[in-house]
Amino acid sequence: MDIRTPPDQLDTTLEDGRPSREDAEAAIRTLIRWAGDDADREGVRDTPARVARAYEDFFRGYGEDPEAILSRTFEETEGYDEMVLLRDIRVESHCEHHMVPIIGVAHVAYLPNRRVVGISKLARVVDAYARRLQIQEKLTAQIANTINEVLQPRGVAVVIEAGHECMSTRGVHKPGVSMVTSRMLGAFRDDPSTRREFLAMIQGRRCTGFET
Ligand SMILES: [Zn+2]
Repeated sequence: MDIRTPPDQLDTTLEDGRPSREDAEAAIRTLIRWAGDDADREGVRDTPARVARAYEDFFRGYGEDPEAILSRTFEETEGYDEMVLLRDIRVESHCEHHMVPIIGVAHVAYLPNRRVVGISKLARVVDAYARRLQIQEKLTAQIANTINEVLQPRGVAVVIEAGHECMSTRGVHKPGVSMVTSRMLGAFRDDPSTRREFLAMIQGRRCTGFET
């Protein structure tokens, strides 16, 4: 720990002590050499820079604030109080154990309590958490909890169905397996008919998320 850093500034952002772009590119160069290749040959010479740029994209969620994304709401809803459901939101994440892709879809529903949020904001919240190192269980809970805390709706339901490259291209090598996680809060947890309505609405649809 840097003793010059005042305690109230510790752990406030992920920027603290963050390695430089050059450090990151050097690390990728090390991995190329460790894999057994020549890091100076033409085909891979610019790969460290490309991978660093790709990582900025894969992990841009660390720079996003999911609560701020949901902060703008609309109250002129003519009393609309039925379920709002966004289905088949593409999920692109990376497993925190192997740093390989998790690809799937999320279904996000809530029961408004006077306020609604722009629908693209729900998809952006999924992205803000997905574009980090994740496990699917935590990703599912984070999305549901944030919507619940910021919108304070009567209920939130999040279901994620995803394939994990760490299962299909390494380890047990089982392609085609999808993992399903869900988090139900409020009416979706307490009221079986609300939960049934949600599950019926997400079933039988054409699933588009797994084509990569
Ligand atoms: Zn993994």
